[in-house]
Amino acid sequence: MSLITVGTMAFDAIETPFGKTDKIIGGSATYVAYAASNFVQPIQQISIVGYDFPQEEMDELKKRGVQLEGVEIVPDKKSFFWSGRYHIDMNTRDTLVTDLNVLADFNPKVPESYQGAEFLMLGNLMPKLQMSVIDQLTKRPKLIVMDTMNFWMETAMEDLLAVLKKVDVLLVNDGEARQLSGEFSLVKAARAIMNMGPRFLIIKKGEHGALLFHENHVFFAPALPLEDVFDPTGAGDTFAGGFIGHIAKTKDISFENMKTAIIVGSAMASFCVEKFGANRMKEITKEDIDARLEAFVQLVNFDIDLV
Ligand code: AMP
Repeated sequence: MSLITVGTMAFDAIETPFGKTDKIIGGSATYVAYAASNFVQPIQQISIVGYDFPQEEMDELKKRGVQLEGVEIVPDKKSFFWSGRYHIDMNTRDTLVTDLNVLADFNPKVPESYQGAEFLMLGNLMPKLQMSVIDQLTKRPKLIVMDTMNFWMETAMEDLLAVLKKVDVLLVNDGEARQLSGEFSLVKAARAIMNMGPRFLIIKKGEHGALLFHENHVFFAPALPLEDVFDPTGAGDTFAGGFIGHIAKTKDISFENMKTAIIVGSAMASFCVEKFGANRMKEITKEDIDARLEAFVQLVNFDIDLV
C-alpha cells in the first residue's frame, strides 16, 4: 500500500495575532508526510531542499517511515522559504515572501524504487512539476489527489488546467474554488471544476469545515471547534495527508470511504493548528487521533424523529 507524496520541504516564518516565529520547518510535503504516516508506511517522498535543511528533520521523518530517496539535496543553494501573516480571523492570510531558491530549478525524478505506487498525493507545487511526476510513473496509481493554491492560478493557469485533466481528486479552499471557476456559488463552482477533470472535489473552508463533491452528491465534514488556534499554517496539507493516509490504508476509493477520509483529514488538521509549525504533529499518538475522531462522531451525531 505504497503512497508517493510530492511537494515542498521548506522554511517558513509565520506571524499570527498571537505570536511570531523565525524560520521554522514547513512545506506542503512535510505536513502531508507527518499526517499520512500515522495511517500508512512507507511514505515515498519527492521534494528538494538546500544545504540549510537540518539533518535532524530528515531523521525525524525517516523515523516515521518516510523514505527520502526522492528528496534531492542541493549543496550550494538555500531551501524554499515562505513567509505569511494571518489576519485576526485566522482564516485568511497575506503571503509576505516566497523565495523559490532550490525550487527554481527543481526537476523531480521518481526513483525506480517508487514505481508501482498505488496512491499519489501531489502536494502544493508548480503544476508543471506535478505533471512531470505523473508522466514519469510507469503505472497509473489507483488514485491521484492534488492540492494547489491561488499563486499557481495567477502565475501558471495553463499548466494547472493541464494537470487537472489527469487527477481524480482536487483539494482547494473556497476562495480558490471561486477563483478557478469564476462562480460564486460553491455548488456551481464544484460543477465547473469537475468539468475540468477531477471526478471528486474537496473544498476546504478553514474553521467552517470542508465539502466533498462527486457527481450530484455532496458531503460536509465540520471542523472541530477549538478553544485556541495558534497557527493555521499547514492545516490544508495536514488535511490532505489525513485524507490520502486513510484512503491508502483502506485501499477503498469509493465516495462512501472518501466521506470518512475527509473526517480523518479534518481531525488531523485540528491537531496541526494547536501549535506553531509541525510541532503538534510530531507529538500526537494513535490514542490522541482515536479520541479526536470520537469527538468528531459526537459533534455530528444526533437523533431525530420525523412524524
Ligand atoms: P497550507 O497552510 O496548508 O496552505 O500550507 C502552508 C505550507 O505551504 C507552508 O509550510 C509553505 O512552506 C508551503 N507553501 C507556501 N507557498 C507555497 C507555494 N507557492 N508552493 C508550494 N508550497 C508553498
